[in-house]
Amino acid sequence: MSSESGSDGSDLVCARCGEDDRLRGERREEIITISCLACGLVWDRDPTPSCKRCGSADVRPAFQSILDKARGTQLSMQSVRLVHLCPDCDADVLADYAKSNTPLPPDELPV
Ligand SMILES: [Zn+2]
Ligand SMILES: [Zn+2]
Repeated sequence: MSSESGSDGSDLVCARCGEDDRLRGERREEIITISCLACGLVWDRDPTPSCKRCGSADVRPAFQSILDKARGTQLSMQSVRLVHLCPDCDADVLADYAKSNTPLPPDELPV
């Protein structure tokens, strides 16, 4: 219900493919999760992403693969999630990511 920023809802664009129309928002408590129906990117709509470990706001966006639990999805492309890496806490991961230019492996491995 806060309307501090006047551009709410109109500037939503997929960071992967630039789609701004076929996006689906799903509210989970305070976070709104956006899915791009064009390329499969999923991200949390967080206006101020920050490092979960040190709290730094100086984080870099990165794509991470999602484990596809549900089989038989109609989307043939691989879904990825937009995450944020901290140059301090995630320095190694960030360096690898910059070199490989491929999505990070999923970190929610099944036990
Ligand atoms: Zn997209
Ligand atoms: Zn950090």
